[in-house]
Order: sequence, then C-alpha cells, then structure tokens
Amino acid sequence: MGRAFVYVIVGGGVAAGYAALEFTRKGVSDGELCIISDEPVAPYERPALSKGFLLPEDPTRLPSFHTCVGANDEILTPKWYKEHGIELVLGTRVKSVDARRLTLVTSTGETITYNFLIIATGARALKLEEFGVEGSDAENVCYLRDLSDADRLATAIQSSSNGNAVVIGGGYIGMECAASLVINKINVTMVLAGAHCMARLFTPKIATFYEDYYMGKGVKFIKGTVLTSFEFDSDKKVTAVNLKDGNQLPADLVVVGIGIRPNISLFEGQLIIEKGGIKVNSQMQSSESSVYAIGDVATFPVKLYGEMRRLEHVDFARKSARHAVSAIMEPEKTGEFDYLPCFYSRFFAFSWQFYGDHVGEVVHFGEYDEGKVFGAYWVKEGHLVGCFLEGGTKEQYETISKATQLKPAVTDMEELEREGLGFTQTV
Ligand code: FAD
Ligand code: NDP
Repeated sequence: MGRAFVYVIVGGGVAAGYAALEFTRKGVSDGELCIISDEPVAPYERPALSKGFLLPEDPTRLPSFHTCVGANDEILTPKWYKEHGIELVLGTRVKSVDARRLTLVTSTGETITYNFLIIATGARALKLEEFGVEGSDAENVCYLRDLSDADRLATAIQSSSNGNAVVIGGGYIGMECAASLVINKINVTMVLAGAHCMARLFTPKIATFYEDYYMGKGVKFIKGTVLTSFEFDSDKKVTAVNLKDGNQLPADLVVVGIGIRPNISLFEGQLIIEKGGIKVNSQMQSSESSVYAIGDVATFPVKLYGEMRRLEHVDFARKSARHAVSAIMEPEKTGEFDYLPCFYSRFFAFSWQFYGDHVGEVVHFGEYDEGKVFGAYWVKEGHLVGCFLEGGTKEQYETISKATQLKPAVTDMEELEREGLGFTQTV
C-alpha cells in the first residue's frame, strides 16, 4: 500500500526547504507535494551548524534557523508545512527509487508514486576510514554534516573546556570549527595536508592573512602532513593523534573536515552521473525527464563558463531549488539557469564572499588588516572572472557580483590593482 503525490522531494535539507517555498509561491495545491527526509527535523539552514550553533553564549537553536531564514524569507516550521498542505515525512530514509516507473520505497516499507521527483539528498562527510585511518567512531571524534553531528560536537565542546582539540583539514569545516573552538576556550591545532588553508580557493596571501590571525588567537598550524592513527584510553576515547610526520598531538576532541561525497547511490545506473553528481540540464532536469536534481548532488551547466560543475554551497542550493520548481511548474516561463558561483564564510569577526571563477592571474587589493575591506580579482584571458572580498557592505557585495557576471575586460593589471574595489564600481 502506498500514497501518490504530484511532486516528491527526496531529502529535506536546504534545497528542499527553498523548493517548498517556491512551490507554494507557484500555487501548489494541498496534498500535491511530499518531502521525505531521514533527518528528524524540518529543513534548516545547514550553515548555522558550524557558526551560531557552536557559540558558548546563547547558541542558535531550532526553530530559529529553519529554512528560509537565510534569505530573509519566511521561517518554514513544521506548522508552516502543515498549513500549506505539504506532507513532511521526517526520520524516514528513501531506500530505493525506480526513476523510470516513478516510484520509491521508504524505510517504513511504504511505496510512494509521483509525477515529478526532485533529488535533494545533499552529501555525506568523508570518513577517515576511507583514507585508511581506523577509530573515527570514538565519541570524541566529530564530523559535522547534520544536526545530530552538531549536537554531538556541542556536547564534546562543553566537556573539553580549556582542553586540546585537533582539527583535521583546512577547508570550510576546519576553518569555521577552529574559530568556534577558540571562542569556546579550547586550544586548537589544525593539521593541514597542504601548504595553506582553503587551498582550493584562497591565494597564499589571503590564506596567510587569516592563518596569522588564527595564530594570534593561539591556533597552531601543522602543515604538509596527515593523521595516520589515534591513541585511545580504556573507554575507547581518543587521547592523542599520530601524524605521518612523526608528531603526536594530545587530543580531548578531534574535529574532522576532509570533504564530502554527494548522496547519489540511489540513482547510480538509472541517471547519468557526471563529475560525481547527477547530470542535469539548464532546467535542473536529469537524464529522466520527470526527475530533477538540486543542491550538492547536481552537476549542472554553468552558462557563464560553458562547463559542467557541481557546487557544494548554500547559495547554489537555494537558487537551483527555485529554478527547478519554476521549470517544473511554469516550463514555458522558465529560461536557462544562468548561475554565478557564490561562496561565503564567516569566522571570528571576519566575513567574506567570493563570486565567479578562481582561475587565471590574481591581483590583490585593499589593506590586508583586521576590520579593513580587502580582496582579490582573478583575471583570465584579459577578463575579470572572479572576485573575493572581505569585510564588504551589502552594496559592495552586490557590486562585485554584478561586475563578475559581466566579465569586464582588464587591460592593465597594475591599474586594476591600483583601482582595487573601485574597478567594479565603474563596470
Ligand atoms: P543538504 O542540506 O545536505 O540536505 C540533504 C538532505 O537529504 C539531508 O537532510 C539528508 O539527511 C537527506 N537525505 C539524504 N539521503 C536521503 C535519503 N536516502 N532519504 C531521505 N533523506 C535523505 N555553504 C555556504 O555557502 N556557506 C556556508 O557558510 C556553509 N556552511 C556550512 C556549514 C556546515 C556545517 C555544512 C555541513 C555545510 C555548509 N555549507 C555552507 C554547505 C551547504 O550547507 C550545502 O551546500 C547545502 O546544505 C546543500 O543543500 P542540499 O539541500 O543539497 O543538501
Ligand atoms: P572542503 O572540501 O572544504 O575541505 C576539505 C579539506 O580537507 C581540504 O583542506 C583538503 O585539503 C583536506 N583533506 C582532504 N583529504 C584529506 C585527508 N585524507 N586528510 C587530511 N586532510 C584532507 O570540505 P570540508 O570538509 O571542510 O567541508 C565539507 C562540506 O561542507 C563542503 O561541501 C563545504 O563546501 C561545506 N561547507 C561550506 C562552508 C561554507 O561555504 N562556508 C562551511 C562549512 C562547510 P586539499 O584542499 O589540499 O585537498
């Protein structure tokens, strides 16, 4: 026995929440839309988990960060879904999907049929075991992907006050969690495989600036090495980590952020997979015409660069969700998805945004100092393609975003450096 819906969203994260709001704006009727999530709570703004959620004073807690608070829209509480006639099936995993027959089966054994399926299953954190390190299920080793991870980390933080934390990985999770740990009065050592933090986006100059700041806050960096094993006490709690370079670091708490893998296994062999994600067209439609994919799982055409990409950031999750719903409900009115990549982060009192593509030559501008506005431009084949800005105002971020989308010509790199942020104002 089972139910039938016109629209089903599998996964109940950021993209699902924004899709739900868009469905209501486009006039979905009561009982037409169902969202199935294995998390026990309604969709929420995942970025809060490494920021406000970990604060020692007055930490952010649900319901305050349900979607779509991140875009200053309504807060979609469970009551909101009820009032809008949306079936929210929580704590329930989708176990299998038949993309051709338009059916799926949940962990409760229910078969659900649909006319349109939106895949919004996000991603899972990579585990150390996948790199040959055993023991990362110890209670004081924390990953951070969902609310239960965040609860676990917050509890571990409380019991590690004035103790030692080792952060493995210098990406987004590593940087944001390290800052939160410092704010919680924990001594932090970051272990980075590469030469500097956020190596895929930051230039050495940008990375050095933030690393120096972190060091000023007491954070130690150990670079060019990886974790090889843990030391445990008799309760199977980690007491220290061993590094490949021979160092041993005492640890009351270990936070691991070594990347993610999109949750696509339900669809392998059924949909075309590209670059680790579900391949979609400029309507977010997969190789099966009734199946769409949004957020972290989608590999989509970036019109601006003529390339297929997968992005793991919240702005994309929100906008791809809106676009897919529009393409499903108003196909004749929905043009091609023309998305400008946008990444951002916040740690300590810093806040930066990046727009576009980080390829080509780089020019830095502004005063690289605390409380100042500074940034960098990426120039490829004589055109500005990317812009990073720390400490900007809302208007400044809008300006760099618009300018980056236009890919203006840059004839003189020295002039660009001199003009700095002013360059984007003249575009
Ligand atoms: P998710 O939000 O991950 O949602 C996927 C949902 O699907 C989850 O609820 C999952 O449990 C569920 N699911 C998966 N498989 C199944 C199944 N088989 N059955 C049922 N349910 C299933 N990005 C930024 O740009 N800025 C930030 O500051 C930022 N901060 C972040 C902080 C943290 C701690 C994390 C983890 C991510 C952060 N991100 C940030 C990234 C951003 O949150 C993701 O890009 C975004 O959440 C992707 O949305 P999504 O809906 O595709 O996936
Ligand atoms: P990232 O991809 O940002 O960073 C992973 C880091 O781990 C990189 O520094 C990488 O180094 C390093 N690494 C990879 N493999 C190993 C290994 N075996 N041992 C040690 N280090 C390793 O992923 P995160 O885990 O930090 O973040 C997870 C997800 O959450 C991402 O999708 C991210 O976009 C998202 N997120 C986004 C935020 C934001 O946008 N503000 C905030 C928090 C999370 P190298 O680069 O040299 O490969």
